[in-house]
Amino acid sequence: MRFRTLRQLSSLKLLTFTSNNLIELNGYRFISTLNEQFKSDVLVIGGGIMGLSTAFWVKRSSPSTSVTVIEKDPQYAVCSTPRSVGGIRSHFSLAENVKLSMFSFDFLTRVNEYLNVNPEDVVDIGLVKKGYLYLATQKGLSTLIENHRVQQSCGASTQLLTPQQLKDKWPWLNVDDIALGSYGFDKEGHFDPYRLLMAFRHKAQSLGVNYVHGTVTDFSGSCSPCKVDQVIVDLAKNQSTARYSAQSIIIAGGSECGSLSNQLIAQNKLTTLCPVNRRKRYVFAFKCDSLNGQQVPMLIDPSGVYCRGEGDNFIAGLSPEESEEPETNDLEVDYNFFDEKIWPRLAERCTNFESVKVQSAWAGYYDFNQLDENAIIGRDPVWTNLFWVTGFSGHGIQMGPAVGKCLSELILDGQYKTIDCSRFGFERVIKGERLLETNII
Ligand SMILES: Cc1cc2nc3c(=O)[nH]c(=O)nc-3n(C[C@H](O)[C@H](O)[C@H](O)COP(=O)(O)OP(=O)(O)OC[C@H]3O[C@@H](n4cnc5c(N)ncnc54)[C@H](O)[C@@H]3O)c2cc1C
Repeated sequence: MRFRTLRQLSSLKLLTFTSNNLIELNGYRFISTLNEQFKSDVLVIGGGIMGLSTAFWVKRSSPSTSVTVIEKDPQYAVCSTPRSVGGIRSHFSLAENVKLSMFSFDFLTRVNEYLNVNPEDVVDIGLVKKGYLYLATQKGLSTLIENHRVQQSCGASTQLLTPQQLKDKWPWLNVDDIALGSYGFDKEGHFDPYRLLMAFRHKAQSLGVNYVHGTVTDFSGSCSPCKVDQVIVDLAKNQSTARYSAQSIIIAGGSECGSLSNQLIAQNKLTTLCPVNRRKRYVFAFKCDSLNGQQVPMLIDPSGVYCRGEGDNFIAGLSPEESEEPETNDLEVDYNFFDEKIWPRLAERCTNFESVKVQSAWAGYYDFNQLDENAIIGRDPVWTNLFWVTGFSGHGIQMGPAVGKCLSELILDGQYKTIDCSRFGFERVIKGERLLETNII
């Protein structure tokens, strides 16, 4: 019996679904063969920013290509995208990251054009244009200058400022220990990540992308050449299991890509573990009345503390030392982290921050690439129909629009056209070669 027939029967109240693979028909219980088979040209695992952007671009470029997105949590309670602070900057050390971010910024300024479903709709992602200010002490001076050179070569509007220039522009800033600053005069700012995610989802679905609530639990594959034949999915609806096959399978599972790659290893020992896992990060929201009305950029302190503000409302965060990484089994916030690690550094940078009041806080998981804190994008070296897009380690939301475009080109045309992302390929993981991005926050 086919599932759709069963579903039709169930609407006649003859059949009910009881538990996984158990059906009840006219009072009798059967073990069902609900291993439904579905086919899609492109199958995306994970409906966060990376998965939905990729689905959108594939469908936009090739309307006849069927695209399915499998997402285990359509409410997005835990995933990284809506928990991010939505910052976008050209301040990167790798040319690819600068270019991806600049492409995304242009996309965001024209987001309505790309993502509105009806012409009368207005897609508002709350984009605020505001520069980042990176500060360097003598120790970080050469890195700041070298990064600026890379950014300039990509056409970014970052500019180096001496301590005096910094003081003239932001009189409240303590520049005593600062050798140089770098400020982004264009294509930087922040936006609402959840609104962007929802806009991608609505647009993708309106183009015909099939969005499925389910959890990928396993893969089955065959070799010579190696190919993932089926993706096993626990469907939320009716608690049934389904098997999906596709010409191209994209793993966009964010911080869960490490565990997804474990399932692939069970199929073929040549598979390499994807080094992307969770790292918990806190964001603290606080008030600082005395800075109200001042121009405050997106400040990146040499200590690693970041802070931005609108009016008297500020947010701040910091990545902990490796030895102080918090557990990742819940999203509880450690408020001492603000008092002990963040606040003293803020107060040193600006005396106005000596008296602040924390209003709220949240935690989220970075999709942390343990190899080099950088993206992994591209075809899997073993599984010929499998692609990865993960590991952005805290700078993924801003890359989403551009990365989806580049990956769609690789999937549909076999090569990158907009921005060459080859250096982000999985091959470096196998070789253990790091592609370091020095501007990680
Ligand atoms: C506190 C914080 C601040 C941040 N600030 C910024 C910032 O300012 N700028 C910036 O650019 N980036 C920032 N980031 C990083 C950014 O949020 C991430 O890099 C980005 O959202 C990653 O997107 P993703 O789609 O890869 O992963 P996710 O958003 O995590 O999406 C992955 C999806 O896959 C689904 N999934 C996983 N496993 C399965 C499975 N087996 N079956 C089905 N579905 C599955 C998950 O449910 C999830 O919805 C921040 C992150 C955090 C936590």
